[in-house]
Amino acid sequence: CGIVALVGSREASPILLEGLKKLEYRGYDSAGLATVNTSKGSHKSFITCKKAKGKLINLLNLVEQDGAPGHIGIGHTRWATHGKPLEQNAHPHMDSVGEVAVVQNGIIENYTLLKKKLEDRGISFSSDTDTEVIPHLISEEIKRLKKDGHETNDQLFLLAVQTVLDYLEGSYALAVIWTATPDALIVAKSKAPLLIGFGEGEFLCASDTPAFAGFTRAVLSLEDQELALLTPLGVEIYNSSGERQYRSPSFINGYE
Ligand code: GLU
Repeated sequence: CGIVALVGSREASPILLEGLKKLEYRGYDSAGLATVNTSKGSHKSFITCKKAKGKLINLLNLVEQDGAPGHIGIGHTRWATHGKPLEQNAHPHMDSVGEVAVVQNGIIENYTLLKKKLEDRGISFSSDTDTEVIPHLISEEIKRLKKDGHETNDQLFLLAVQTVLDYLEGSYALAVIWTATPDALIVAKSKAPLLIGFGEGEFLCASDTPAFAGFTRAVLSLEDQELALLTPLGVEIYNSSGERQYRSPSFINGYE
């Protein structure tokens, strides 16, 4: 029932877990996080995804035990709406090859139709959630765009997510990572809250302001149908027509 996402230069998982802890009051039945990491000596990036049923402490223990390296990541506390509160249904959800990971807060109303179309194309699902259609759709869109050539990976990622948002109906806030863009993450929202907190060379996104306590007081709220590409260098906001939007964060009180 809450999402967090971080891009910066510090280890992401402790900050993500801290953010999730501050969103606990929203209620949840399971939790999870995913980070992108580039292994030393190789240019190959990979996603580490950890999920646990029940309290956040279960996820914390799992991350402590197995590790979730990386300076960029996404996290989620889930309040099940579609699919039982089981580990397999906890977020993040990934595409079939483990290159795209998504957390979503809300409901994708038309997921049955989208799921059927994907299954007809031979894609198999590993959860019963409405959310899993999103990473599969993004992955398919990336493949399709790659055939056309030209774009850089950041542009490709942005275009793919932008296209997929047009397919989604419902109220949602989401965050996406992709192994081919190990320094970037994308967040988007429609009829559910999503805020971006501005740190120094790092950005934290979250469903609500308590998550920013001890991180920053400079917060920007994303508008419906907007999407943001975040890297350690900055935040780029786009509207649904792909036009760049410019505005500054405001300062929230009561925290820090
Ligand atoms: N509808 C999604 C699910 O059931 C997200 C629920 C939430 O916002 O926690 O997985």
